[in-house]
Amino acid sequence: MSDFAALTPQPLPDPDTQDFWDSLGKGELGICRCQECSLWMHPPLERCRACAGAVAIESVSGAGTVVSFIVVRQPTVPGRLPPYVVATVELQEQRGLHLVAVLHAEPDAVHVGDRVQAEVVPLPGGDFRVPEFRPAP
Ligand SMILES: [Zn+2]
Repeated sequence: MSDFAALTPQPLPDPDTQDFWDSLGKGELGICRCQECSLWMHPPLERCRACAGAVAIESVSGAGTVVSFIVVRQPTVPGRLPPYVVATVELQEQRGLHLVAVLHAEPDAVHVGDRVQAEVVPLPGGDFRVPEFRPAP
């Protein structure tokens, strides 16, 4: 590991997000879901925001649609060389279920409405894994 990668900011799991990070650690994208009314929620919460029901992390397909994105053109995160795209993606499991992550695509080729697919990749500088998107095949 390069010294540069060692500077990459690492997640700080808390009681609400620990299961989310654990699912990623197993190579799965898991999203918080109410066990009473089936509402998906991200970021994860301790209880359902709609009905206060118990929640659990459930695997999702990782398929989604770009609803917004930025192109990072200045070096802001150690280990990540610009330019790169950070996208807000609506996961196909539920309208309004958004996940923000790096999108591996040419910045000039990204459009709102593009279909993308999440993958789980190692985060440099530690033991965490994170979701990142690529254009859907
Ligand atoms: Zn609920």
